[in-house]
Amino acid sequence: MFDRASVVTPGGVNSPVRAFRAVGGTPRFMVSGTGPYLTDADGREYVDLVCSWGPMILGHSHPEVIAAVQEAVSRGTSFGTPGEGEVALAEEIVTRIAPVEQVRLVSSGTEATMSAIRLARGFTGRSKVVKFAGCYHGHVDALLAAAGSGLATFGLPDTPGVTGATARDTVVLPYNDLDAVRAAFAAHPGEIACVITEASPGNMGVVPPADGFNAGLKELCAANGALYISDEVMTGFRTSKAGWYGVDGVSPDLMTFGKVMGGGFPAAAFGGRADVMAHLAPAGPVYQAGTLSGNPVATAAGLAQLRLLDDAAYAKIDAVSAELRSLVGDAFTKEGVAHTVSSASNMFSVFFTDEPVRNYDDAKKQEAFRFTAFFHSMLEQGVYLPPSAFESWFVSTAHDERAVERIAAALPAAARAASEATA
Ligand code: PLP
Repeated sequence: MFDRASVVTPGGVNSPVRAFRAVGGTPRFMVSGTGPYLTDADGREYVDLVCSWGPMILGHSHPEVIAAVQEAVSRGTSFGTPGEGEVALAEEIVTRIAPVEQVRLVSSGTEATMSAIRLARGFTGRSKVVKFAGCYHGHVDALLAAAGSGLATFGLPDTPGVTGATARDTVVLPYNDLDAVRAAFAAHPGEIACVITEASPGNMGVVPPADGFNAGLKELCAANGALYISDEVMTGFRTSKAGWYGVDGVSPDLMTFGKVMGGGFPAAAFGGRADVMAHLAPAGPVYQAGTLSGNPVATAAGLAQLRLLDDAAYAKIDAVSAELRSLVGDAFTKEGVAHTVSSASNMFSVFFTDEPVRNYDDAKKQEAFRFTAFFHSMLEQGVYLPPSAFESWFVSTAHDERAVERIAAALPAAARAASEATA
């Protein structure tokens, strides 16, 4: 299947990390998922610790989500008009997350962050965007600049196809460094439209914000007339009922969501202060639109999933995550592998270093080659991990005792493989 895919699709995949380039080997083609398990085209079953990169927080094929989708599909798949489902999903988001007074639905996290920074620029009349090295906000041109972590470094494009002019309006700073943010505001007075950050980063591995970092960002933005945008595409409705906002209580001006809120369908959103959202078309002059935005099937799936995510569900996910973190840490300790199990609420990942990891430069110092050996051993034993040392692991309410036991049984040999690995 991978050979077939490689003929008609660049690199054989529709999103690069799926190709296993960071770990080598052939990607598994999955044909079905049930609860915490995925089954591949060869009929092999895996315990899934990727959960579609976050969305499948109730596990695969949750009966109530499937029923909601079937009911929605039976009424038609897209109308291109307003519909009740999108209103209900918006109400659910606004109810859960106090700083979101209004929300606009889109189809991907990329669209959400792209639209949020356009809105911030339109609202403030300023051009520059501050982002942090190691934070991923989707493949928005302006946000694919991550070079240089010196103070107020102008971004260099990370990829061909993003022009220098686009990247020049992006200021890339080291994560968890408020002094760098202060210096950037001093270097570009009246020019910075917004600071965008992952609420708690999960795209350089899991690197939580230091105490007071998000609050400091909010304060600096407010003092300098810029908007504070918290990207909760990954953390939203995962790290608590109200996402990372529910953990640290810092109110952003704008927020972005995706993944969990779509229940496995393409649905995402951006929202925040009503006076800022009022600048969005058709209420205001900042243009933004989408043929499939608020799609009735996607909104039905997302709403069904969110309604099932009550306190008990989060308690369950948190408990499974804590158990796995401890099993993983013990396995590496037993084999004498230098490691740090880094977590933010129920998101976690392993860094192959025992030095503290506070930003992307720290994260890159880990012995990532050990992850490759670990990953393949786990895969061979039927545990599907994210195929990169710089990704969060995700669990769901469906990860029950049997699934945890299967992971526990695979860990000793995989930890040994990590300890024996050479660069
Ligand atoms: N923002 C964050 C924090 C993400 O983790 C991602 C995707 O992983 C995105 C934005 C982009 O979302 P999408 O892949 O739906 O475009």
